[in-house]
Amino acid sequence: MNFDVVIIGGGMVGLSLANQLIERKITNNIIVLDKEKELGKHSSGLNSGVLHAGLYYEPDSLKARVCVSGATRLKKWIKERNLPINECGKVIVPQREELDSQLDILYNRGKSNGAKVEMIDENELNKIAPEALSSSGRALWSPNTVVVKSKLVLNTLENELIQKNVKIVLHQNNWKVNIRKRMITLNNGDEINYSHLINCAGLQADKVARLFGVGRKYILFPFKGLYWSLKRDSKIRINTNVYPVPDLNVPFLGVHFTPTADDNPTVNIGPTATPALGRENYRGFESLEFFSSIRNLSLLANQYLLNKGGFRKYVHEQYLLTFKPIMIQSAQQLIPRIRYDDVELSNKVGIRSQLFNTETQRLEDDFLCLEGPDSTHVMNAISPAFTASFTLADLIIDNIRFNF
Ligand SMILES: Cc1cc2nc3c(=O)[nH]c(=O)nc-3n(C[C@H](O)[C@H](O)[C@H](O)COP(=O)(O)OP(=O)(O)OC[C@H]3O[C@@H](n4cnc5c(N)ncnc54)[C@H](O)[C@@H]3O)c2cc1C
Repeated sequence: MNFDVVIIGGGMVGLSLANQLIERKITNNIIVLDKEKELGKHSSGLNSGVLHAGLYYEPDSLKARVCVSGATRLKKWIKERNLPINECGKVIVPQREELDSQLDILYNRGKSNGAKVEMIDENELNKIAPEALSSSGRALWSPNTVVVKSKLVLNTLENELIQKNVKIVLHQNNWKVNIRKRMITLNNGDEINYSHLINCAGLQADKVARLFGVGRKYILFPFKGLYWSLKRDSKIRINTNVYPVPDLNVPFLGVHFTPTADDNPTVNIGPTATPALGRENYRGFESLEFFSSIRNLSLLANQYLLNKGGFRKYVHEQYLLTFKPIMIQSAQQLIPRIRYDDVELSNKVGIRSQLFNTETQRLEDDFLCLEGPDSTHVMNAISPAFTASFTLADLIIDNIRFNF
C-alpha cells in the first residue's frame, strides 16, 4: 500500500491535518494510524471543550497566530453540522486584588491577537455572571468564547474523513518504521510506504519523534487535569465560563467553571494541573509507566527545587486542589456562595502533553513543530490546539516540502 501522507495519531490535530490536506487539494491519499480501538481516548476527547478566543497568548507566539482564526473556523464548521454549541462567553476575574493588573496584560494581548475583549466593571459583571466576584471590581469579558462537545466534534470529523476515503486504521499499538525505506509495518505485518509522515501522537509524540532522531532535548511531563462538577440540585447558577486570572509563568489557565454544551448544561469545575505519574495514568498510581517516569519526575523536581517562575508554589497549590475542602476554598475566590455540598468529583480526567526543555530547564509554553527525515513532528500540542486545529494544520502544511 502506498500513501502520500501517513499521520500518526487521530486526535484533533491529526484529523485536522488530514482534512486540510484534502480541502487544499494537496492529496487525499492519506492514512491515519491510531494506537487505540477508538478515537477520542486522550486529550481531544477529554478536554474542557472550550473554544478559546485568543486572550492569553503572547502576540509573537504560534498559539497567538492560530487561535483566533482557528476558533472562528471550527465554530463555523460545528454550526454548519448542527452540533451542540454553548455560546456563553467567558469572564476572567482576578481572584486576589494584586492580580488586577494582569487583566491589562490579558486585555492588550487579546487586542493584539485580534480577539474581541472588553474590560467590564462590577455592574456589568453582575449582569453577565451574578455569582462571580471580582476582588478588584474589574473583569474581562470575552463574548466569543464558546463551549462544544469535543469528542462529538472529533468523531464527526472522523466520519467525514472516512467518507472522503481517508484510511483510518485503529488499534495500531505496535507499528514499526523503516525510515530509510519510508515504510511502516503494521501490527498484522502489512507494509505501507509513505512519502511524508506527520507525527501527531499527543502524549506519545516525543517518543515517536525520537524514533526519527528528533526532539531529543524534550521530555514529556504529563500534567493531570481532574474535574469536579456542580451538583444538579445546587442553587448556584453559572451560565458563562468563569476563569481566574492565570499564573502567566506556567502554561495552564487555572481551575475554572465551564457550563457544558448540553441542552441542560452541567457546570464543570477544573481542570487541576497536577504532575501525573505516567503519561496515560488517568485513574491512579497503578501504571507501569510510573517507574519510567521517575527520571522525568527528578527533572521536574529540579525545576521545582530551583523554584523557577514560582513553580514550587504552583505545584503545591495544584496538589492541594485535589482535596475537596481546599478546592472549595479556591473556588470561593471566584464564586463566594459555593459550598462543600454544591460540588461532586466528576469522572472526567484529562492529561496534558506538556513538554519540558532539558536545555532551558523550563516547561515549553508554545506549540513546536520539528522537521525530521521525510517527517514532521507536532509536539507540545497543548491548549488551545483543539480550538486552533484547522489553522494550526494549515500552518504546519505550509511549512512542509512534500515530494509527491
Ligand atoms: C484536561 C485538558 C483540558 C483541555 N481543555 C482544552 C480546551 O478547553 N480547549 C482547547 O482548545 N484545548 C484544550 N486542551 C488541549 C487539547 O485537548 C489538546 O491541545 C488537543 O486535543 C491535542 O490534540 P492532539 O491531536 O495533538 O492529541 P490527542 O487528542 O492526544 O491525540 C493523539 C492521538 O495519538 C494517538 N497515539 C499516541 N501514540 C501513538 C502511537 N505510537 N501510534 C499511533 N497512535 C498514537 C493517541 O491514541 C491519540 O488518539 C485541554 C487538554 C486537557 C488535557
